[in-house]
Amino acid sequence: MNVELQPVGEISSWLLDGIRQGFYTAISYSVSLNPSVPVPPQAYDPTRNQYLADTMIEELYSCKRKGAYLLGITSVDLFTKGKSFVFGEASPMMETAVISLYTLGGPGISDNLVLQRAIKEAVHEVGHLMGMDHCSNTHCVMHFSNSLIDTDFKDAFFCPACKPRLL
Ligand SMILES: [Zn+2]
Ligand SMILES: [Zn+2]
Repeated sequence: MNVELQPVGEISSWLLDGIRQGFYTAISYSVSLNPSVPVPPQAYDPTRNQYLADTMIEELYSCKRKGAYLLGITSVDLFTKGKSFVFGEASPMMETAVISLYTLGGPGISDNLVLQRAIKEAVHEVGHLMGMDHCSNTHCVMHFSNSLIDTDFKDAFFCPACKPRLL
């Protein structure tokens, strides 16, 4: 199965290229890059000044080709009900996921660290699309990240228990 990377808004090409390579290392899937689409205004919540990840996924679903997984990459701040923010969100039913770069960078954070974090979140969400749940192994890419400390601690690939479950 193919994975389509879908930039949502302007995303730097070095990040997209890096995520593409990181994916290949973790999953050895072919990854294609779609032309960027605008951030869907329907997902914007003015009371929170954030974007609802679930609506974003529904809008991105229309960009998806049949027989492919689609991963949206955006730099806007995402949230979902009951959470103040999310690094990413996946809908296995729609075979569509989205990650946000919003919280991954900042003053003193190198481009390389931002990229490593983005790769981990990207592989994690596509893991969900492939039917994987969260893993209790804190090094596994499928471990749930509550904060960037968890993200930085985990690897960009699947643990020996999760790896055989790759489709
Ligand atoms: Zn997850
Ligand atoms: Zn695992």
